[in-house]
Amino acid sequence: MSPPPLKPVNRNPNKGKDEPFILPPNVTSAQFSKFLKRCREICGVENVKVIEAEEQLVDGSYYEPNKTHDMHHLVDRNYFVCSATISPREVPEVQDMMRLCNEFEVPVWPVSIGRNTGYGGAAPRVPGSIVLELGKHMNRVLEVNAEDAYALVEPGVTFFALHEYLEKNNLKDKVWIDVPDLGGGSVLGNTIERGVGYTPYGDHWMMHCGMEVVLPTGELIRTGMGAMPNSRDDVNGIRPDEQKPNRAWQLFNYGFGPYNDGIFSQSSLGIVVKMGIWLMPNPGGYQAYMITIPTDKDLKTAVDIIRPLRTQMILQNVPTLRSILMDAAVAHPRSHFLKEDRPFTNAELDQICKDLDLGRWNFYGALYGPQPVRDVLWSTIKQAFSVIPGAKFYFPEDRNEPFSVLKTRSLTLQGVPTFDELRWVDWLPNGSHLFFSPIAKVSGDDAMLQYSVTLKRCLEAGVDFIGDFVIGMREMHHIVCITFNKKDPESKRRAHWLIETLIKDCAEYGWGEYRTHLAVMDQVALTYDFNDNAQMKLNEQIKDALDPKGILAPGKNGVWPKNYNKEEWRIPKSVTLDKTQHTLSKKRSGWRTPEKL
Ligand code: ADP
Repeated sequence: MSPPPLKPVNRNPNKGKDEPFILPPNVTSAQFSKFLKRCREICGVENVKVIEAEEQLVDGSYYEPNKTHDMHHLVDRNYFVCSATISPREVPEVQDMMRLCNEFEVPVWPVSIGRNTGYGGAAPRVPGSIVLELGKHMNRVLEVNAEDAYALVEPGVTFFALHEYLEKNNLKDKVWIDVPDLGGGSVLGNTIERGVGYTPYGDHWMMHCGMEVVLPTGELIRTGMGAMPNSRDDVNGIRPDEQKPNRAWQLFNYGFGPYNDGIFSQSSLGIVVKMGIWLMPNPGGYQAYMITIPTDKDLKTAVDIIRPLRTQMILQNVPTLRSILMDAAVAHPRSHFLKEDRPFTNAELDQICKDLDLGRWNFYGALYGPQPVRDVLWSTIKQAFSVIPGAKFYFPEDRNEPFSVLKTRSLTLQGVPTFDELRWVDWLPNGSHLFFSPIAKVSGDDAMLQYSVTLKRCLEAGVDFIGDFVIGMREMHHIVCITFNKKDPESKRRAHWLIETLIKDCAEYGWGEYRTHLAVMDQVALTYDFNDNAQMKLNEQIKDALDPKGILAPGKNGVWPKNYNKEEWRIPKSVTLDKTQHTLSKKRSGWRTPEKL
């Protein structure tokens, strides 16, 4: 059965050269040609690329991501597609582009790097939007202040680039950065999307400080202390020009009056063109470790051990508890472990644990500080986890396998970016993925319940459970990695059904997602429905006030401007996966309900 049709896109009739095959909604090809001419005047001919034909949609890879559509396309590949990519060279060009888009009523989807892997890539929510690729030219590290431990970056600075900058300038012995699992994304984009890393500075949004933002009207603002320029600088005995940034811009987040930064995070209210991020002072000593938890049922005990240690900051960093298949997938593709298309039995999973010398769950953390500090912390942590029968404790030097997750984590947890975690994406042929990431209390009961609810649905959908609990200051993000074969429509349909069903199931327990893929943004937004969706009504009011023509990222995170009919724009539900279809599907006929945890 084929999935229900998506909202029709504005296909360009009688298309000629230099015309996109998909136009923005309600824009004619003649209007768009005029618009393109003006874009070229603003950004330069070489910085405007029109997507003339479907053949130009090349998925690429993590290393060479496309800027036109979602590489891991969950719905039709040519649905979430832009009309053109435009790369401004400096802030005034971004401002001019916003003014132009207002004039022509062309929707804009800003990206920093556009990798955004597992959440939609560079693809816009509304087909035919232009993608404003900020990172291509605006990619400078504007400042690293090692004394106050912060950096000021432009959108195109990746985690790799910032790391390299510290190395080249011999600053690594003074300050460290925090990196997510993969280092190719932008510091700025990841932070404003509220992405996480794994050092003590893992909550990126918490660690940002001060932004410069182009509003949908084209106006430029600075938030926090940045709103007050430093026109006179008696401290240094000089009078710099009036626009010199305030010396406390990257030191104090709040400034004066209402705190604005939040409305520019996961939002469609501004284009962030500069952002401050706090760096971690080099702690003067470091040790990564892994603790293996042999059984599924001890997930509960482990999480209950973790909560007090984390709130007391004995666990200093953002640690993770990874399910066995996540680590197995980094080592080998699925076919290495199982040739048949059926779920793993508990006995097979235990065998994988044995072969890889891992647990059913594996806990990765690190100790920071001089040796005596680390010794005290390690003995406390070790003692706490020792109540779990069979738990084992490892340092990176204890592991000799060719792809040791602990060795990779040992880099990640000290802010050294890597690409190693990409390996689990190839679990299936034509490996693609998306993330389901609900938030929960750090409690053994929540972890067990969330594991059983998500595992059950994974098995119904014929998808292996690959999950990871990421432990923040007071909560955990449970990242369920949904892998699928993007060349197999059945596999895509099952992945789509799975994420929709998980969103619905988890919302019933009050577990909401912290971030999501384009295709299910509306569904997730609707689960945050306290008091008749009062928060969404507020978001819509702010959207309409700041962006009266609704040109900036319409539909992002479920917020639609008033000139869009949001019901019409919702992505239709994937076909229900009922029992008959399930057993009829020869490919996945062996999948069943889970064995008891
Ligand atoms: P990555 O840095 O991982 O490659 P992206 O650049 O694709 O991620 O950014 C992820 C998402 O964040 C984008 O789809 C967009 O919605 C938003 N975004 C990224 N950069 C900006 C920006 N500079 N201003 C406003 N929104 C942005």
